[in-house]
Amino acid sequence: LPVVAVVGRPNVGKSTLVNRILGRREAVVEDVPGVTRDRVFYEAEWAGKDFWLVDTGGWEEKVDGIAYRVAEQAEVAVELADVVMFVVDANVGITTTDEQLLKVLRRSQRPIVLVANKVDDQRGELEAAALWNLGLGEPFPVSALHGRGSGDLLDAVLAVLPEEGRGDAVDHGPRRIALVGRPNVGKSSLLNRLAGERRVVVDDLAGTTRDPVDEKITLGGKEWTFVDTAGIRRRVLQSSGADYYASLRTRSALDRAEVAVVLIEANEPISTQDLKIIDMVLESGRALVLAFNKWDLLDEERRHQLEFEIEKDLGHVSWAPRVNLSAKTGRHAEKLVPALEQALESWDQRIPTGRLNAFLGTLVAAHPHPLRGGKQSRILFATQARTRPPRFVIFATGFLEHGYRRFIERRLREDFEFTGSPVVIGVRIRE
Ligand code: GDP
Repeated sequence: LPVVAVVGRPNVGKSTLVNRILGRREAVVEDVPGVTRDRVFYEAEWAGKDFWLVDTGGWEEKVDGIAYRVAEQAEVAVELADVVMFVVDANVGITTTDEQLLKVLRRSQRPIVLVANKVDDQRGELEAAALWNLGLGEPFPVSALHGRGSGDLLDAVLAVLPEEGRGDAVDHGPRRIALVGRPNVGKSSLLNRLAGERRVVVDDLAGTTRDPVDEKITLGGKEWTFVDTAGIRRRVLQSSGADYYASLRTRSALDRAEVAVVLIEANEPISTQDLKIIDMVLESGRALVLAFNKWDLLDEERRHQLEFEIEKDLGHVSWAPRVNLSAKTGRHAEKLVPALEQALESWDQRIPTGRLNAFLGTLVAAHPHPLRGGKQSRILFATQARTRPPRFVIFATGFLEHGYRRFIERRLREDFEFTGSPVVIGVRIRE
Protein backbone atom coordinates (compact mmCIF):
# COMPACT_ATOMS: atom_id res chain seq x y z
CA LEU A 1 0.00 0.00 0.00
CA PRO A 2 1.13 3.55 -0.57
CA VAL A 3 2.30 5.48 2.48
CA VAL A 4 1.16 8.93 3.53
CA ALA A 5 3.31 10.58 6.20
CA VAL A 6 2.05 13.37 8.41
CA VAL A 7 4.90 15.76 9.12
CA GLY A 8 5.09 19.00 11.07
CA ARG A 9 6.71 20.61 14.06
CA PRO A 10 5.34 19.80 17.53
CA ASN A 11 1.91 21.08 18.46
CA VAL A 12 0.64 21.82 15.00
CA GLY A 13 -1.90 19.06 15.50
CA LYS A 14 -0.50 16.08 13.66
CA SER A 15 -1.91 13.43 15.98
CA THR A 16 -5.28 15.12 16.08
CA LEU A 17 -5.32 15.11 12.31
CA VAL A 18 -4.36 11.45 12.22
CA ASN A 19 -7.16 10.61 14.63
CA ARG A 20 -9.55 12.63 12.53
CA ILE A 21 -8.59 10.76 9.38
CA LEU A 22 -8.82 7.39 11.08
CA GLY A 23 -12.13 8.23 12.65
CA ARG A 24 -10.39 6.87 15.75
CA ARG A 25 -10.36 3.40 14.38
CA GLU A 26 -8.09 0.91 15.95
CA ALA A 27 -4.44 1.15 15.18
CA VAL A 28 -2.70 -1.78 13.51
CA VAL A 29 0.55 -1.53 15.39
CA GLU A 30 0.18 -3.84 18.31
CA ASP A 31 1.31 -3.07 21.79
CA VAL A 32 4.05 -5.53 22.42
CA PRO A 33 6.27 -5.52 25.47
CA GLY A 34 9.80 -4.49 24.63
CA VAL A 35 8.75 -2.54 21.60
CA THR A 36 7.43 0.94 21.71
CA ARG A 37 3.88 1.52 22.78
CA ASP A 38 3.75 4.48 20.51
CA ARG A 39 1.34 3.97 17.75
CA VAL A 40 2.62 5.38 14.55
CA PHE A 41 1.56 3.23 11.65
CA TYR A 42 -2.11 3.05 10.81
CA GLU A 43 -4.07 1.53 8.01
CA ALA A 44 -6.39 4.19 6.70
CA GLU A 45 -9.04 4.41 4.06
CA TRP A 46 -10.66 7.22 2.13
CA ALA A 47 -13.12 6.98 -0.74
CA GLY A 48 -12.49 3.26 -1.07
CA LYS A 49 -8.73 3.61 -1.24
CA ASP A 50 -6.47 2.07 1.39
CA PHE A 51 -3.17 3.52 2.45
CA TRP A 52 -0.78 3.61 5.35
CA LEU A 53 -0.89 6.68 7.51
CA VAL A 54 2.28 7.46 9.43
CA ASP A 55 2.15 9.79 12.38
CA THR A 56 5.74 10.93 12.62
CA GLY A 57 4.81 12.89 15.70
CA GLY A 58 3.69 9.68 17.38
CA TRP A 59 7.07 9.00 18.80
CA GLU A 60 8.28 12.52 19.35
CA GLU A 61 6.97 13.10 22.83
CA LYS A 62 7.20 9.63 24.25
CA VAL A 63 10.95 9.25 24.37
CA ASP A 64 11.88 10.69 27.72
CA GLY A 65 14.47 13.37 27.97
CA ILE A 66 15.27 13.30 24.33
CA ALA A 67 15.30 16.46 22.34
CA TYR A 68 12.93 16.13 19.50
CA ARG A 69 14.61 16.56 16.17
CA VAL A 70 12.61 18.03 13.43
CA ALA A 71 14.93 17.29 10.54
CA GLU A 72 15.21 13.67 11.57
CA GLN A 73 11.47 13.27 11.62
CA ALA A 74 11.26 14.68 8.14
CA GLU A 75 13.93 12.32 6.91
CA VAL A 76 12.08 9.36 8.30
CA ALA A 77 8.95 10.50 6.54
CA VAL A 78 10.81 10.89 3.31
CA GLU A 79 12.25 7.44 3.69
CA LEU A 80 8.84 5.89 3.98
CA ALA A 81 6.36 8.10 2.28
CA ASP A 82 4.84 8.25 -1.15
CA VAL A 83 3.05 11.45 -0.21
CA VAL A 84 3.80 13.89 2.60
CA MET A 85 1.16 15.86 4.43
CA PHE A 86 2.96 18.91 5.70
CA VAL A 87 1.02 20.38 8.62
CA VAL A 88 1.44 23.97 9.75
CA ASP A 89 -0.45 26.04 12.26
CA ALA A 90 -2.36 28.64 10.27
CA ASN A 91 -2.71 30.87 13.29
CA VAL A 92 1.02 31.03 13.86
CA GLY A 93 2.17 31.06 10.26
CA ILE A 94 5.50 29.77 9.06
CA THR A 95 8.24 29.49 11.64
CA THR A 96 11.94 28.82 11.10
CA THR A 97 11.36 25.23 12.20
CA ASP A 98 8.72 24.87 9.51
CA GLU A 99 11.19 26.21 6.99
CA GLN A 100 13.83 23.76 8.14
CA LEU A 101 11.43 20.88 7.71
CA LEU A 102 10.32 22.07 4.36
CA LYS A 103 13.88 22.13 3.08
CA VAL A 104 14.29 18.42 3.76
CA LEU A 105 10.89 17.63 2.28
CA ARG A 106 11.58 19.59 -0.87
CA ARG A 107 14.87 17.84 -1.45
CA SER A 108 13.07 14.50 -1.44
CA GLN A 109 10.84 15.53 -4.33
CA ARG A 110 7.92 13.65 -2.85
CA PRO A 111 4.53 15.19 -3.49
CA ILE A 112 3.68 17.51 -0.62
CA VAL A 113 0.17 18.44 0.42
CA LEU A 114 0.11 21.57 2.54
CA VAL A 115 -2.24 21.43 5.50
CA ALA A 116 -3.15 24.68 7.25
CA ASN A 117 -4.46 23.41 10.55
CA LYS A 118 -6.44 25.09 13.30
CA VAL A 119 -8.65 26.93 10.88
CA ASP A 120 -11.74 26.63 13.01
CA ASP A 121 -13.81 29.26 11.26
CA GLN A 122 -14.12 31.31 8.11
CA ARG A 123 -11.82 34.00 9.42
CA GLY A 124 -8.92 31.61 9.62
CA GLU A 125 -9.16 30.86 5.94
CA LEU A 126 -7.64 34.23 5.17
CA GLU A 127 -4.59 33.34 7.17
CA ALA A 128 -4.43 30.00 5.44
CA ALA A 129 -4.50 31.69 2.06
CA ALA A 130 -1.29 33.51 2.95
CA LEU A 131 0.42 30.14 2.77
CA TRP A 132 0.20 30.16 -1.01
CA ASN A 133 3.53 31.99 -0.65
CA LEU A 134 5.31 28.78 0.14
CA GLY A 135 4.98 27.65 -3.43
CA LEU A 136 3.53 24.31 -2.42
CA GLY A 137 0.31 24.88 -4.24
CA GLU A 138 -3.06 25.19 -2.59
CA PRO A 139 -3.02 25.22 1.19
CA PHE A 140 -5.83 23.11 2.61
CA PRO A 141 -7.45 24.82 5.56
CA VAL A 142 -8.67 22.29 8.10
CA SER A 143 -9.66 22.02 11.67
CA ALA A 144 -8.35 18.66 12.75
CA LEU A 145 -10.12 19.13 16.03
CA HIS A 146 -13.58 19.80 14.59
CA GLY A 147 -13.21 17.99 11.28
CA ARG A 148 -13.60 21.04 9.16
CA GLY A 149 -12.10 20.69 5.67
CA SER A 150 -10.64 17.24 6.15
CA GLY A 151 -12.64 15.75 3.27
CA ASP A 152 -11.22 18.18 0.74
CA LEU A 153 -7.77 17.55 2.13
CA LEU A 154 -8.07 13.80 1.72
CA ASP A 155 -9.37 14.22 -1.82
CA ALA A 156 -6.24 16.22 -2.59
CA VAL A 157 -4.05 13.53 -1.05
CA LEU A 158 -5.73 10.80 -3.06
CA ALA A 159 -5.23 12.82 -6.21
CA VAL A 160 -1.45 12.54 -5.85
CA LEU A 161 -1.36 9.13 -4.21
CA PRO A 162 0.11 6.45 -6.46
CA GLU A 163 -1.78 3.19 -7.03
CA GLU A 164 1.04 1.22 -5.46
CA GLY A 165 3.53 2.20 -2.82
CA ARG A 166 7.12 2.70 -3.84
CA GLY A 167 7.97 -0.50 -2.09
CA ASP A 168 5.14 -2.57 -3.52
CA ALA A 169 5.66 -5.37 -5.92
CA VAL A 170 4.16 -4.55 -9.28
CA ASP A 171 3.48 -7.18 -11.88
CA HIS A 172 4.65 -6.05 -15.22
CA GLY A 173 5.32 -8.72 -17.76
CA PRO A 174 7.75 -11.62 -17.55
CA ARG A 175 10.27 -11.65 -14.72
CA ARG A 176 13.77 -10.66 -15.77
CA ILE A 177 16.72 -12.95 -15.23
CA ALA A 178 20.42 -12.17 -15.56
CA LEU A 179 22.45 -15.28 -16.25
CA VAL A 180 25.94 -14.45 -15.08
CA GLY A 181 29.20 -16.25 -14.43
CA ARG A 182 32.78 -16.24 -15.55
CA PRO A 183 33.69 -17.18 -19.13
CA ASN A 184 33.30 -20.83 -20.04
CA VAL A 185 31.14 -21.86 -17.08
CA GLY A 186 28.48 -22.76 -19.60
CA LYS A 187 26.14 -19.76 -19.74
CA SER A 188 25.65 -20.04 -23.44
CA SER A 189 25.14 -23.80 -23.23
CA LEU A 190 22.56 -23.38 -20.48
CA LEU A 191 20.74 -20.70 -22.40
CA ASN A 192 20.55 -22.98 -25.41
CA ARG A 193 19.37 -25.82 -23.24
CA LEU A 194 16.63 -23.71 -21.71
CA ALA A 195 15.60 -22.24 -25.00
CA GLY A 196 15.20 -25.81 -26.19
CA GLU A 197 17.20 -25.43 -29.30
CA ARG A 198 20.79 -25.67 -30.35
CA ARG A 199 22.16 -22.51 -31.72
CA VAL A 200 25.46 -21.96 -33.29
CA VAL A 201 27.39 -19.47 -31.28
CA VAL A 202 29.12 -17.31 -33.79
CA ASP A 203 32.31 -15.69 -32.75
CA ASP A 204 31.79 -12.02 -33.15
CA LEU A 205 35.31 -10.76 -33.23
CA ALA A 206 34.45 -7.32 -34.42
CA GLY A 207 32.01 -6.95 -31.53
CA THR A 208 29.90 -4.74 -33.73
CA THR A 209 26.66 -4.51 -31.88
CA ARG A 210 26.72 -3.56 -28.27
CA ASP A 211 23.02 -3.37 -27.67
CA PRO A 212 21.77 -5.72 -25.06
CA VAL A 213 19.44 -8.27 -26.51
CA ASP A 214 16.84 -9.87 -24.31
CA GLU A 215 15.39 -13.26 -25.02
CA LYS A 216 12.01 -14.51 -23.95
CA ILE A 217 12.06 -18.12 -22.94
CA THR A 218 9.16 -20.21 -21.68
CA LEU A 219 10.01 -22.28 -18.63
CA GLY A 220 7.57 -24.25 -16.54
CA GLY A 221 4.71 -22.86 -18.61
CA LYS A 222 5.67 -19.28 -17.89
CA GLU A 223 7.49 -16.73 -19.94
CA TRP A 224 10.75 -15.31 -18.59
CA THR A 225 13.04 -12.67 -19.98
CA PHE A 226 16.74 -13.38 -20.01
CA VAL A 227 18.42 -10.00 -20.22
CA ASP A 228 21.42 -9.15 -22.31
CA THR A 229 21.86 -12.57 -23.84
CA ALA A 230 23.87 -11.01 -26.66
CA GLY A 231 26.70 -10.72 -24.16
CA ILE A 232 26.40 -14.42 -23.49
CA ARG A 233 25.94 -15.62 -27.01
CA ARG A 234 28.76 -13.57 -28.35
CA ARG A 235 32.18 -14.85 -27.35
CA VAL A 236 34.06 -12.34 -25.30
CA LEU A 237 37.48 -11.59 -26.70
CA GLN A 238 40.22 -13.35 -24.86
CA SER A 239 42.43 -10.33 -24.82
CA SER A 240 43.41 -7.68 -22.35
CA GLY A 241 40.39 -5.75 -21.24
CA ALA A 242 38.14 -8.77 -21.63
CA ASP A 243 37.69 -9.05 -17.88
CA TYR A 244 36.78 -5.44 -17.59
CA TYR A 245 34.35 -5.75 -20.45
CA ALA A 246 32.80 -8.87 -18.95
CA SER A 247 32.33 -7.21 -15.59
CA LEU A 248 30.68 -4.19 -17.17
CA ARG A 249 28.37 -6.51 -18.99
CA THR A 250 27.51 -8.33 -15.80
CA ARG A 251 26.79 -5.08 -14.05
CA SER A 252 24.49 -3.80 -16.74
CA ALA A 253 22.70 -7.14 -16.96
CA LEU A 254 22.12 -7.01 -13.20
CA ASP A 255 20.85 -3.47 -13.50
CA ARG A 256 18.10 -4.61 -15.78
CA ALA A 257 17.27 -7.88 -14.04
CA GLU A 258 15.25 -8.85 -11.01
CA VAL A 259 16.99 -12.09 -10.22
CA ALA A 260 20.48 -13.35 -11.01
CA VAL A 261 21.48 -16.90 -11.72
CA VAL A 262 25.17 -17.13 -10.91
CA LEU A 263 26.56 -20.06 -12.81
CA ILE A 264 29.58 -21.70 -11.20
CA GLU A 265 31.74 -24.44 -12.58
CA ALA A 266 31.26 -27.37 -10.22
CA ASN A 267 34.23 -29.25 -11.52
CA GLU A 268 36.75 -26.55 -10.64
CA PRO A 269 37.57 -24.86 -7.36
CA ILE A 270 35.36 -21.89 -6.56
CA SER A 271 37.40 -18.95 -7.77
CA THR A 272 37.83 -15.34 -6.69
CA GLN A 273 36.13 -14.39 -9.92
CA ASP A 274 33.04 -16.37 -8.90
CA LEU A 275 33.07 -14.57 -5.56
CA LYS A 276 33.43 -11.21 -7.26
CA ILE A 277 30.41 -11.91 -9.42
CA ILE A 278 28.40 -12.91 -6.36
CA ASP A 279 29.49 -9.66 -4.70
CA MET A 280 28.22 -7.75 -7.70
CA VAL A 281 24.85 -9.42 -7.33
CA LEU A 282 24.75 -8.56 -3.64
CA GLU A 283 25.61 -4.95 -4.42
CA SER A 284 22.86 -4.82 -6.99
CA GLY A 285 20.24 -5.97 -4.48
CA ARG A 286 18.90 -8.56 -6.88
CA ALA A 287 17.53 -11.94 -5.86
CA LEU A 288 20.06 -14.72 -6.17
CA VAL A 289 20.10 -18.34 -7.32
CA LEU A 290 23.33 -20.33 -7.37
CA ALA A 291 23.69 -22.91 -10.11
CA PHE A 292 26.55 -25.37 -10.25
CA ASN A 293 27.13 -26.48 -13.80
CA LYS A 294 28.93 -29.41 -15.43
CA TRP A 295 27.63 -31.78 -12.78
CA ASP A 296 28.08 -34.59 -15.29
CA LEU A 297 31.86 -34.29 -14.87
CA LEU A 298 31.92 -34.67 -11.08
CA ASP A 299 33.34 -37.69 -9.35
CA GLU A 300 32.74 -38.62 -5.75
CA GLU A 301 35.85 -36.90 -4.50
CA ARG A 302 35.13 -33.61 -6.23
CA ARG A 303 31.59 -33.65 -4.89
CA HIS A 304 32.90 -33.80 -1.35
CA GLN A 305 35.49 -31.17 -2.06
CA LEU A 306 32.84 -28.87 -3.52
CA GLU A 307 30.62 -29.15 -0.43
CA PHE A 308 33.61 -28.18 1.65
CA GLU A 309 34.37 -25.17 -0.59
CA ILE A 310 30.75 -24.04 -0.51
CA GLU A 311 30.73 -24.10 3.25
CA LYS A 312 34.00 -22.19 3.40
CA ASP A 313 33.48 -19.61 0.65
CA LEU A 314 29.76 -19.21 0.22
CA GLY A 315 28.55 -19.05 3.82
CA HIS A 316 27.49 -15.44 3.33
CA VAL A 317 24.99 -16.48 0.67
CA SER A 318 23.79 -19.68 2.29
CA TRP A 319 20.27 -18.23 1.93
CA ALA A 320 20.41 -18.57 -1.86
CA PRO A 321 18.71 -21.60 -3.40
CA ARG A 322 21.14 -23.91 -5.08
CA VAL A 323 20.71 -26.04 -8.19
CA ASN A 324 23.20 -28.65 -9.37
CA LEU A 325 22.80 -29.12 -13.07
CA SER A 326 24.36 -30.00 -16.35
CA ALA A 327 23.74 -27.75 -19.32
CA LYS A 328 25.20 -30.46 -21.49
CA THR A 329 22.97 -33.38 -20.49
CA GLY A 330 20.07 -31.28 -19.30
CA ARG A 331 20.16 -32.86 -15.86
CA HIS A 332 18.14 -30.85 -13.33
CA ALA A 333 17.97 -27.80 -15.59
CA GLU A 334 14.23 -27.71 -14.91
CA LYS A 335 14.94 -27.23 -11.21
CA LEU A 336 15.94 -23.68 -11.96
CA VAL A 337 12.31 -22.70 -12.26
CA PRO A 338 11.16 -23.35 -8.68
CA ALA A 339 14.41 -21.83 -7.42
CA LEU A 340 13.78 -18.67 -9.42
CA GLU A 341 10.18 -18.49 -8.29
CA GLN A 342 11.10 -18.91 -4.66
CA ALA A 343 13.83 -16.25 -4.86
CA LEU A 344 11.50 -13.75 -6.50
CA GLU A 345 8.73 -14.45 -4.04
CA SER A 346 11.11 -13.62 -1.20
CA TRP A 347 12.35 -10.59 -3.04
CA ASP A 348 8.76 -9.32 -3.38
CA GLN A 349 7.72 -10.17 0.13
CA ARG A 350 6.25 -7.52 2.41
CA ILE A 351 5.78 -8.20 6.09
CA PRO A 352 2.91 -6.24 7.59
CA THR A 353 4.06 -3.72 10.17
CA GLY A 354 1.96 -5.32 12.91
CA ARG A 355 3.43 -8.77 12.35
CA LEU A 356 6.93 -7.38 12.12
CA ASN A 357 6.64 -5.56 15.42
CA ALA A 358 5.06 -8.54 17.13
CA PHE A 359 8.01 -10.63 15.96
CA LEU A 360 10.52 -8.03 17.14
CA GLY A 361 8.79 -7.60 20.47
CA THR A 362 9.03 -11.29 21.25
CA LEU A 363 12.61 -11.44 20.02
CA VAL A 364 13.79 -8.42 21.98
CA ALA A 365 12.05 -9.60 25.13
CA ALA A 366 13.79 -12.98 24.93
CA HIS A 367 17.16 -11.65 23.79
CA PRO A 368 17.61 -8.05 24.92
CA HIS A 369 20.28 -5.93 23.34
CA PRO A 370 23.45 -6.09 25.46
CA LEU A 371 23.92 -3.15 27.80
CA ARG A 372 26.57 -0.64 26.96
CA GLY A 373 27.99 1.56 29.70
CA GLY A 374 25.19 0.28 31.89
CA LYS A 375 22.63 1.71 29.52
CA GLN A 376 19.93 -0.13 27.67
CA SER A 377 18.99 0.75 24.14
CA ARG A 378 15.37 0.54 23.22
CA ILE A 379 13.83 -0.55 19.95
CA LEU A 380 10.91 1.73 19.27
CA PHE A 381 9.45 0.06 16.25
CA ALA A 382 10.32 -1.29 12.86
CA THR A 383 8.79 -1.17 9.48
CA GLN A 384 9.52 -2.58 6.07
CA ALA A 385 10.30 0.45 3.97
CA ARG A 386 10.77 -1.36 0.67
CA THR A 387 10.54 -4.61 -1.15
CA ARG A 388 12.71 -5.76 -4.04
CA PRO A 389 14.79 -6.36 -2.06
CA PRO A 390 13.11 -6.23 1.35
CA ARG A 391 14.46 -3.30 3.30
CA PHE A 392 13.66 -2.84 6.96
CA VAL A 393 14.14 0.22 9.09
CA ILE A 394 14.50 -0.20 12.82
CA PHE A 395 14.02 2.84 15.01
CA ALA A 396 15.88 2.67 18.28
CA THR A 397 17.27 4.83 21.03
CA GLY A 398 20.89 4.85 22.12
CA PHE A 399 22.68 2.41 19.86
CA LEU A 400 22.24 -0.87 18.04
CA GLU A 401 25.30 -3.04 17.74
CA HIS A 402 26.21 -4.50 14.41
CA GLY A 403 26.14 -8.02 15.81
CA TYR A 404 22.64 -7.47 17.14
CA ARG A 405 21.50 -6.23 13.77
CA ARG A 406 22.89 -9.40 12.21
CA PHE A 407 21.09 -11.41 14.86
CA ILE A 408 17.81 -9.73 13.96
CA GLU A 409 18.43 -10.40 10.29
CA ARG A 410 19.11 -14.06 10.97
CA ARG A 411 15.93 -14.44 12.99
CA LEU A 412 13.93 -12.55 10.40
CA ARG A 413 15.14 -15.04 7.83
CA GLU A 414 14.17 -17.91 10.06
CA ASP A 415 10.71 -16.67 10.92
CA PHE A 416 9.77 -15.36 7.51
CA GLU A 417 10.72 -16.98 4.25
CA PHE A 418 13.52 -15.03 2.57
CA THR A 419 15.16 -17.79 0.59
CA GLY A 420 16.98 -16.29 -2.35
CA SER A 421 16.62 -12.67 -1.39
CA PRO A 422 18.99 -10.30 0.32
CA VAL A 423 17.55 -8.63 3.39
CA VAL A 424 18.63 -5.08 4.13
CA ILE A 425 18.34 -3.66 7.61
CA GLY A 426 18.71 0.03 8.23
CA VAL A 427 18.81 1.52 11.70
CA ARG A 428 17.73 4.94 12.77
CA ILE A 429 19.05 5.98 16.12
CA ARG A 430 17.57 8.69 18.23
CA GLU A 431 20.16 9.88 20.71
P1 GDP B 1 30.02 -19.47 -21.42
O1 GDP B 1 31.30 -18.80 -21.75
O2 GDP B 1 29.72 -19.32 -19.97
O3 GDP B 1 28.86 -19.09 -22.26
O4 GDP B 1 30.29 -21.05 -21.61
P2 GDP B 1 29.86 -22.01 -22.81
O5 GDP B 1 28.40 -22.28 -22.77
O6 GDP B 1 30.41 -21.49 -24.08
O7 GDP B 1 30.59 -23.37 -22.38
C1 GDP B 1 31.98 -23.45 -22.24
C2 GDP B 1 32.40 -24.88 -22.45
O8 GDP B 1 31.89 -25.70 -21.42
C3 GDP B 1 31.91 -25.45 -23.77
O9 GDP B 1 32.93 -26.26 -24.30
C4 GDP B 1 30.71 -26.30 -23.35
O10 GDP B 1 30.49 -27.39 -24.21
C5 GDP B 1 31.13 -26.79 -21.98
N1 GDP B 1 29.97 -27.08 -21.10
C6 GDP B 1 28.96 -26.26 -20.82
N2 GDP B 1 28.09 -26.84 -19.94
C7 GDP B 1 28.58 -28.07 -19.69
C8 GDP B 1 28.14 -29.16 -18.86
O11 GDP B 1 27.10 -29.14 -18.16
N3 GDP B 1 28.92 -30.29 -18.86
C9 GDP B 1 30.05 -30.37 -19.60
N4 GDP B 1 30.72 -31.49 -19.52
N5 GDP B 1 30.49 -29.37 -20.36
C10 GDP B 1 29.78 -28.23 -20.43
